Amino acid sequence: MTATHDMPMLNEISSEGRRASDLGTSDVPDVALSQMIPARFLRNEKAKLPEIAELAVVRHFTRLSRRNGGIDNVFYPLGSCTMKYNPRVNEYVAAMNGFANIHPLARDEDIQGALELMSALESYLCELTGFSACSLQPAAGAQGEMTALLVIKAYMQDKGHGHRNVVLIPDSAHGTNPASCTACGFKTREVKSNGKGMIDLDDLRAKLDGDVAAMMITNPNTLGIFEANIRKIADILHESGAQLYMDGANFNAIMGVIRTRDMGVDVQHFNLHKTFSTPHGGGGPGAGPIAVAQHLSEFLPIPRIEKREGKFVRNYDKPKTVGRVRAFFGNFGVFVRAYTYIRSLGKSGLRRVAEMAVLNARYLHKKLGSAFETPYTAPCMHEFVVSAEKQSKKGCGATPIAKRLIDYGYHPPTTHFPLIVHDALMIEPTETENRETLDGFANDLCRIAAEIEETPDVVRSAPQTTVVRKLDEVGATRSPKFRW
Ligand SMILES: *Cc1c(COP(=O)(O)O)cnc(C)c1O
Repeated sequence: MTATHDMPMLNEISSEGRRASDLGTSDVPDVALSQMIPARFLRNEKAKLPEIAELAVVRHFTRLSRRNGGIDNVFYPLGSCTMKYNPRVNEYVAAMNGFANIHPLARDEDIQGALELMSALESYLCELTGFSACSLQPAAGAQGEMTALLVIKAYMQDKGHGHRNVVLIPDSAHGTNPASCTACGFKTREVKSNGKGMIDLDDLRAKLDGDVAAMMITNPNTLGIFEANIRKIADILHESGAQLYMDGANFNAIMGVIRTRDMGVDVQHFNLHKTFSTPHGGGGPGAGPIAVAQHLSEFLPIPRIEKREGKFVRNYDKPKTVGRVRAFFGNFGVFVRAYTYIRSLGKSGLRRVAEMAVLNARYLHKKLGSAFETPYTAPCMHEFVVSAEKQSKKGCGATPIAKRLIDYGYHPPTTHFPLIVHDALMIEPTETENRETLDGFANDLCRIAAEIEETPDVVRSAPQTTVVRKLDEVGATRSPKFRW
């Protein structure tokens, strides 16, 4: 294991007898223990736990935490991920006893506040999108996609269109889209983008037939381009009896400005952990609620939260539901953060988030145009894609540039995605960064472009400043080692 370097593992600094705490002597007689616990569950030897004093433990984890790059210590322009600052007030509210310590099996009458929060959050998400109903249950964006597709499938079966087994997906789509289709038993059919980065309507018409159940569109798409024909696309799909699903992971760009339902969309998912804050680097808990138009609402997962005689209840009696997709409440802590975020920003604040996110991205897009190829020049939304093809010809494409950015103190942007752009660097600055940060980042990226001309080896061998140098990413995927 090379990651330890100058930093020993906890068991390496263990020394017999050292303690971080003193629990006193147990006053439970051993005899009683052996009577209470069946012999086969009792340990025969001492557990092999590291024995370390408190200060050493604190230093160990503090040092480790400083090696972590996160939104709290570096600019994190990871396209498609909306790594925005997470206001601390959200954490404060999520940690409140009444929210943090709810028992998963609590009865409705004992958790009225929690159910009210969930119900209110559902209605805010409906208001922001113009939809009629919402389910918070899916635990991530990808699960939201899957749930939405299950809802569409149930709707088609209910209408006697169960034979429709194809979903159309643009070539710029996020990888989770085709994966969700496959998970739901749909076949996928790819629709081409045109030179402007939008859906090619002729190709859409050519791919559309009576087998198509739905199309999945990300708007703005992963190129950061707003699909201006969205209403027309919706009409084309509806005319042929198909539904329009919107991947709402990029909702940050349009929140409070336009409503999804007005664009003709039938169902969308949200990434609460992107648009509505919640720390989510490292794959931590998220939430991928879906909101639907009226005709799809009876298919939503159960339980549905309803208000009856002034009390909130969870209703399981929904004959057409697709069932449960997640245990208990879903990722409740994420709901509390999203609720707090929405309440603290208010209507005008949410709109301003979108406006600033777009402004920041347009500013940065413009600044990088001098050093990098910009395959799509239309004004971008909350993110944009530049191509490092020019640099790649000198031997330093998107990957070495991303690694070199680590040396400059940044989390790298998304690279090599979307697949339709060569050596893509996909950059999403978010609304929470100020102008100095954006200027600094643009200057540093341009400096790296200059390094590629003058001293390419420095870039090729990056990162230079990290504890661990360039990793064998292929090896890590093909033959991962989970212990040492
Ligand atoms: C992040 C993202 C997803 C998937 O969301 P997860 O919560 O990671 O499952 C889907 N589509 C797009 C466009 C995304 O950016």
